[in-house]
Amino acid sequence: MTQPIIALKVDVDTYVGTRDGVPRLLEILERAGIRATFFFSMGPDNSGKAIRRIFTRKGFLKKMLRTRAPSMYGIKTLLYGTLLPPPMIAESFPEILRRTEQMGHEVGIHCWDHVKWHDLLPWMPKRTTAMELGQAFSLFGEIFGHRARSTAAPGWTVTADSLEIQDALRLDYCSDARGRAPFYPVLDGRRFATLQVPTTWPTMDEILGENGITAETINDYYFTLVRPGLNVHTIHAEMEGKAMATAFVDLLKRLKARGMRFITLAEAAEEFGGNATDAPLSMGELPGRAGLVALQG
Ligand SMILES: [Zn+2]
Repeated sequence: MTQPIIALKVDVDTYVGTRDGVPRLLEILERAGIRATFFFSMGPDNSGKAIRRIFTRKGFLKKMLRTRAPSMYGIKTLLYGTLLPPPMIAESFPEILRRTEQMGHEVGIHCWDHVKWHDLLPWMPKRTTAMELGQAFSLFGEIFGHRARSTAAPGWTVTADSLEIQDALRLDYCSDARGRAPFYPVLDGRRFATLQVPTTWPTMDEILGENGITAETINDYYFTLVRPGLNVHTIHAEMEGKAMATAFVDLLKRLKARGMRFITLAEAAEEFGGNATDAPLSMGELPGRAGLVALQG
């Protein structure tokens, strides 16, 4: 039986998550001797505009209250882009981004504007989508001195346009979906050329408060999900790097005690990409998450 392997995918969504959550995660990962893959939001933090989801997405308000979002993100973050001007994320903390790579982690692009992509992608003209990625790529190149080789879509939101643009960027892989194993996506009758390495575990905010799962028992639940081969776990700088850091440290300790091997997503793409087959990709519902996410069919 193949030994379980874990790839940690770190989504960095906000200004505060980059400033406080990333350094905290770097410290935690260094102590554990684990390398992960960080996907950065490069442009403005418009988190406050996400409030409009209360009116457009069934279950959003319930989720905000269940996960105690105001205390998790801080009141200021919830006002960025509405009452407060949106701060520029990567431009404000280039040294934190560079330090992430210097410490041995893989770095990639989450997006330019997280809230815009997550909420508006299906209605965006193709050139706007291309500009969102283009701006992120250009600043990423300036900060790191090399081009980005992978992206991970905000909120697991994709369209045929976004996949087509990602193909044109000749990336090593993308991590846009939820699913079982690396695959080549087929959407709207088209097969795309960029390998997808999907997230296989639910995120903390999806399961916390569901079925009686608490911060104390969440790692027991994660342990029931471990399976042979590749497991991809998405964490958030805003959660595991802040209020949920203690639970995350405990999870790493327990996974390591079980002898599990940790790899980056780029290494996962290399190691498991060879077995990838074509699979349908569609936007669908996932328990614990408001709105639709890209699902491997
Ligand atoms: Zn995100």
